[in-house]
Amino acid sequence: MESHEGPDEVIWDITYACPLRCVHCYSESGRRPARRLSEDGMLRVAEAIAAMRPHGVSIAGGEPLLIPNLIQVIERMAAAGLKVAVYTSGWLMDHDTARKLADVCDKIVVSVDGATPEVHDRIRGRQGSFSRAMRALTILDEVGAERPLNFGIDCILLQSNFQQMELFCETIAPRFGHLRFVAFGAAVPGGLASRARFDEHELLTEEQIKQLNDPGHAQRLRALAPASVTVGTTDNRILQMHPELVARGIVFNVLQIEPDGEVRAMPIYEGTVGNVLSDPPDVLWKRAKARWSDPFVTNALSGVKTMKQWAEAARLIDQRFGTTAVRERISRRPEFPVL
Ligand code: SF4
Repeated sequence: MESHEGPDEVIWDITYACPLRCVHCYSESGRRPARRLSEDGMLRVAEAIAAMRPHGVSIAGGEPLLIPNLIQVIERMAAAGLKVAVYTSGWLMDHDTARKLADVCDKIVVSVDGATPEVHDRIRGRQGSFSRAMRALTILDEVGAERPLNFGIDCILLQSNFQQMELFCETIAPRFGHLRFVAFGAAVPGGLASRARFDEHELLTEEQIKQLNDPGHAQRLRALAPASVTVGTTDNRILQMHPELVARGIVFNVLQIEPDGEVRAMPIYEGTVGNVLSDPPDVLWKRAKARWSDPFVTNALSGVKTMKQWAEAARLIDQRFGTTAVRERISRRPEFPVL
């Protein structure tokens, strides 16, 4: 049988525009140019992704619902047999959009980073974002009552929401009768979450990571949520691309694409290896894989054990492989305010 030589999954940050200003945003969306392509350019990226034959595609950003021809772009990939997931803050969701998404998507994921408005709105950097996310989930729930719809919640775990996992399962999940899943994942040191001070004050402590990985903890969460809801937890360490794991083939086999088609060598670190609009997919994939075992990368990551060390390594990798423009953007990042 012919082996699949490309990425298992593709993530496309379709725009860097976003109405929110999350403290942990890995793509710094809303604070930088959107780099959104023309409608024709987006369709060409969609075709290039389809040519890679991944199992699935996640459309993220930025806020995908800001893209006027989003449905057409997804249709293009779905027509090629790809399963498409859309990640949204829910800020712009309405019934018409939800129904159109339901027609073409395999999965719709609403990001909720707090089980209470105070916690969510503070993390997401905009007042009212919790109620907009709950409204989006209500709309999806109503559409889910009309037809089968795979939708759920994704929660990025930080120190300031870690204690709310139970509350999510007990009070948020039961509000939506057709909700399929709640996914809890530790924040990783990419983008704004790689800032010094953020690592100490918001990335999970080693004790919290241990708790997150405890099977008993996941079981307790599952018991608190409605039986129809799948609850998942992950420390997201697979995103680190630690050289020992890469050598053992335990890797995040994902190609991440920036809005204009530039391809990241590794999803959470700066540094691109070409563009899907000009370079053949197999060449891009080979270049990306070569980066995983680049001596600078292996050297930076080989001693990493803690989140703080991971953040330090991420900052080194970003400086080494980011362009001058990327390094300038990094230098303009605001310091993480510790209250
Ligand atoms: S909603 Fe997503 S893309 Fe927008 S600022 Fe938050 S993390 Fe970034």
